Amino acid sequence: MRYTDSDPRSAEILRLVIPSISKHGGSYIPTAYAVWYEHLAGTNNRLTVDLACRLQKSDSLDRGSVEELYAEHILSRDVRSTHLLQKSLEALARRLAQAAADSSGSTEEYARTLEASQAELQSLTGAEELQAVLQKLIDSTRGARESVGSLRAELAASQTELRTVRDRLGHLEIEAIKDPLTGLLNRRGFDRAVEQLRANGSTLTFATLLMLDLDHFKRINDSYGHLFGDQVLCATAKVLNSVIKGRDIAARFGGEEFLILLPETAESGAVALAEQFRQAFARASVRRNGSDKVIDQLTVSIGVASPKPGESLEQTIDRADAALYRAKHDGRNCVRIATAA
Ligand code: GH3
Ligand code: MG
Ligand code: MG
Repeated sequence: MRYTDSDPRSAEILRLVIPSISKHGGSYIPTAYAVWYEHLAGTNNRLTVDLACRLQKSDSLDRGSVEELYAEHILSRDVRSTHLLQKSLEALARRLAQAAADSSGSTEEYARTLEASQAELQSLTGAEELQAVLQKLIDSTRGARESVGSLRAELAASQTELRTVRDRLGHLEIEAIKDPLTGLLNRRGFDRAVEQLRANGSTLTFATLLMLDLDHFKRINDSYGHLFGDQVLCATAKVLNSVIKGRDIAARFGGEEFLILLPETAESGAVALAEQFRQAFARASVRRNGSDKVIDQLTVSIGVASPKPGESLEQTIDRADAALYRAKHDGRNCVRIATAA
């Protein structure tokens, strides 16, 4: 971490953080502290710009937005810098290991030459003194060889250690593209997965996008508490994971909004799948832990859009969003197909 503010200065910022979280209706979670702290300290311009954009659209900043800001502008920066550090450490270890191997090789060569010379000297008479000196040289060379050998072993061990660090950093990177609550990809993860699909040659010509939004989710939170709301989001993610397959990509797009990309499914097939999902969701009887009472307002609205030639993914998402908006307008708990751009 690179927070260098003095204690009085950080206390001053903290005094501003709490009213800011409170003013924008957010949760008092550590990620919210970090986001507001960096914004108010004026040390993270990108975060400040993104935050201002979001606050322009809506004065309240929900937990999902806070987590997105944190992942996008704080966590990813840490991951990037540790990634660079890790790369340079690995290169250093490789160079040292190579140096040790080289020096060990040349020391062995040295010992072999001296041993050969000793054999020659033995055939000479009157060379005892010279031979004693030579023996010393051989002994010291052997010692050097052993010490280089242990240096090599040590370097091999530190390379193993570096590999462990790299794996741990790999996990960190996964965290930056995953939504911590549901384990689905987040917005960044979704973009990366789509980039990967394209890199593997997919043109998304036969793809369809589903945008899902839980209906009246605020009521669920209001009636049964935020924690239960979280459980509903996790259960929704599980169901989504169970309906998608192969190269399909499911992501949590924001608070109670989800996005599914079906790369090889034409619109009609995707609509059928969306309809199946909507019905399954409406049919499911959800109970709270330790209660027999069934929660009956759980429904989902879905917007469907297929990419048009020359359209960017962003534009397709916008059309799916517009179709979702129509589904809400038409009474919710229904599927609507996007019109052409
Ligand atoms: P609509 O049918 O129009 O979509 O109504 P809605 O109530 O679902 O939509 P609205 O956008 O008014 O409210 C979304 C709610 O989702 C409000 C917010 O508190 C809640 N929410 C967002 N993220 C989370 C989260 O991570 N956990 C929980 N429990 N609730 C969340
Ligand atoms: Mg909703
Ligand atoms: Mg919503």
